[in-house]
Amino acid sequence: MITDLVRNEVRSYRQMPLNLYQIQTKFRDEIRPRFGVMRGREFGMKDAYSFDADEAGAEAAYQKMFDAYTRIFERCGLSFRAVEAVTGTIGGKFSHEFMVLADTGEEQIAVCEKCGYAANLEKAGLGERAAAKSKEPEAPLTKVPTPGQKTVEEVCAFLKVAPALLVKTLIFDSSKGPVAALVRGDRELNPNKLEQAADADWIAMAGPELIEKVTGGPLGFSGPVGLPIPVFTDREVAAMKNFVTGANEPDAHYIGTNPGRDFDPGRVTDLRVAAAGDPCPRCEGVLQFTRGIEVGHVFKLGTKYSKAMRATYLDAEGKEQLIVMGCYGIGTGRTVAAAIEQNHDQNGISWPVPLAPFPVYLLPINLSDEKNRAAAEKLYADLQTAGLEALYDDRVERPGVKFKDADLLGIPLRIVVGEKTLAKDSVEFKLRRETEPRLVKLEQAVAQALNLIFGSLLPKCRGAVRRGDRPVAPTR
Ligand SMILES: [Zn+2]
Repeated sequence: MITDLVRNEVRSYRQMPLNLYQIQTKFRDEIRPRFGVMRGREFGMKDAYSFDADEAGAEAAYQKMFDAYTRIFERCGLSFRAVEAVTGTIGGKFSHEFMVLADTGEEQIAVCEKCGYAANLEKAGLGERAAAKSKEPEAPLTKVPTPGQKTVEEVCAFLKVAPALLVKTLIFDSSKGPVAALVRGDRELNPNKLEQAADADWIAMAGPELIEKVTGGPLGFSGPVGLPIPVFTDREVAAMKNFVTGANEPDAHYIGTNPGRDFDPGRVTDLRVAAAGDPCPRCEGVLQFTRGIEVGHVFKLGTKYSKAMRATYLDAEGKEQLIVMGCYGIGTGRTVAAAIEQNHDQNGISWPVPLAPFPVYLLPINLSDEKNRAAAEKLYADLQTAGLEALYDDRVERPGVKFKDADLLGIPLRIVVGEKTLAKDSVEFKLRRETEPRLVKLEQAVAQALNLIFGSLLPKCRGAVRRGDRPVAPTR
């Protein structure tokens, strides 16, 4: 829609760079809405689109947006990672996902602690450090009967070998015709990596008929020996010796299979899904896994949509050129939900200050006591004047109920005004993230609250809100 809008408005290179954004409610027909408000059919989203005259401009726009997103999530006080992601159905050249780290996250993220490399599981690459080539002598290639044994588990149990000594041969159909991928029996193939290695526009698992047609054998008995289609071999497999593979005929497998001698391994590359402990693709470190919630995504689209929709402009020489695009989204509601997933305990939410609905929860113990009420109301007014919006709990409820609700709502600073502390000209401060309250002199209460909210409780980051800036609480 945005490309359509722009192709009707933009005529000249002088009208770019151009960035358009909107914040609005979106609807998506999720098959299975879940995780509370995390994945619902209705959600708030900010989406933005950049339009540039050339690649360099588009790259600069992408980098600017990437930096802005980083600052936004830093300023929200969230612990997150910007991870490399596959572009998926939106397509385009490359993308990053912004993931809030939380154990309940839907997505798995591979992270190298040594160099900071981070990628989602679909994208995570593996270093080239190959496994040491086995020194055992090459055994002869021998066909053995495996009646009715089709799966890795069945064949391994039948031949009494470990899955790591078997090589799976997976047949795929693709835009370039049928291809075969070889991975170790206990590993998973990453279809994105195969698609890239084969330089195909699409790949799809082959059905039984196609397998029979290209291998000559039934599903479950495919192998690389004598296979007439292009073969792609995972690096790990290229270093293996004497493994088990299918024999491309019913009820038979080979043992003692060796790449090079018995079949051409074709292109040897990284094909499998990364696992914990695998080598990092950028350094000598190893990959570890953590979970995250996707809250933002930036895509460099290139000319995918402008080409398809003929969104063009005239350059300085008056020549028609394709507009180069990027697109960028933040799940606004989801960011808040992810903040809760990352910041809570058994008593409820514990908001990071920048996202808290109020910075202060003001809790008078006994409103029927005139002195208590007057002190609380004065403090409320003084906080307000200082730019600190407080949620004033003036309900007629037992203190225990109010304390519980204060924890549940998760407002960062709770100030209790009661007779006992007032007798010492003091009020009680308690941070939601700490367990012990402390006494603060009434006349210092506002200054101390300001110090906490605009000081130690604010996330440390570039471009953070500083004391003296406008209050972080939303204005209503
Ligand atoms: Zn690394």
